[in-house]
Amino acid sequence: MKIETIAIHGGNVITDTLKPIIQPITLSTTFEHQEGSMLYTRLENPNRKSLETVMASLEGGTDAAAFASGNAAGNAVFQALPAGTHLIAPDDMYHGMKMLLQTVYAGKLEVQFIDLTDKENLRNAIKQNTGLLWIETPSNPLLKISDISALASIAKENNVKVVCDSTFATPVYQQALELGADIVMHSSTKYISGHSDILGGILVTKKKDDFWQHIKNVQGLAGAVPSPMDCYLLTRSIKTLPYRMKAHAFNAKRIAEFLDHHPWVEKVYYPGLSSHKGFETAQIQMEGFGAMLSFLIKGNANDADHLIGKLKFFSNATSLGGVESLIERRSKVQVGDPGIPDQLIRMSVGIENHEDLIEDLDQAFKVTFNS
Ligand SMILES: *Cc1c(COP(=O)(O)O)cnc(C)c1O
Repeated sequence: MKIETIAIHGGNVITDTLKPIIQPITLSTTFEHQEGSMLYTRLENPNRKSLETVMASLEGGTDAAAFASGNAAGNAVFQALPAGTHLIAPDDMYHGMKMLLQTVYAGKLEVQFIDLTDKENLRNAIKQNTGLLWIETPSNPLLKISDISALASIAKENNVKVVCDSTFATPVYQQALELGADIVMHSSTKYISGHSDILGGILVTKKKDDFWQHIKNVQGLAGAVPSPMDCYLLTRSIKTLPYRMKAHAFNAKRIAEFLDHHPWVEKVYYPGLSSHKGFETAQIQMEGFGAMLSFLIKGNANDADHLIGKLKFFSNATSLGGVESLIERRSKVQVGDPGIPDQLIRMSVGIENHEDLIEDLDQAFKVTFNS
């Protein structure tokens, strides 16, 4: 071999007798033509396969498709629908996904946003050309709970496909396929990554039907796929997901109770509080209530900003699901959204010690309201 050839081929140490315990990172974009081999990384890659396999098992599905972001995962579903399809989506929906439907799909899909916490609203909305019901539960940012099995059975009677965005619940706390969804979606940027350092999305299907084949075509041919490195890191993160979720939810419950009793808090949105409208449904369909919560203070937007500014352990930033606690005044992101009051604060509870977090909140309330 000459130097140019050695530079390219000299580093390969792959042998049949070397069996690592951890799936190695396969950055190669292409594979030797061989019976049963993978072909090209846009279509398939060992690390993506690893991620898709573990996610399909966690959700009790038959197949999964990983994407470069949660929105790319949602987009693959929307692109797989025939033009002109009537799509029903929740009024409280992750705003980036809502914007995707309202901008990119304007004139291509007929999108209708309704309150899915009342199943009669769904019954009234279904039409001849309804093709998809998009559920998001618990929802972002108002933590609305939709009854997946009740909605899915109405959809099924009408031949409507059901996709559930389970990002807030994770497969640890909600099994959307078992409850009746055809496909479950996650922004793996959030709890699945858990460390605020990977962007990703994933779909898991109950059945490998024609609709799923369309989605797989969008994944492989449109190619918004995650890198092998990101897939590797997500697979690594998933190993601790159940343990992280327990710590997140333990803290969130305690913070929700602290806020619920606080004299300067008007209302707390957390499905694990018995006063929450969706508490009963959440108790039935979830194994735990997750770690996202929102609340309204007895004050204005300035007071909310002041409170947030006084916190030591909660960073003032958007996104969620990382081990560190985050907080934001939600209308800074959902600018001008009439459904989001100016003083609404959304919190992603991390896995720090809950006493430190509560003490931090307590001092920030005291300085904000001189109480
Ligand atoms: C963040 C989020 C998304 C979008 O995921 P990205 O990875 O940011 O593209 C979708 N749904 C929910 C509920 C989210 O929180």
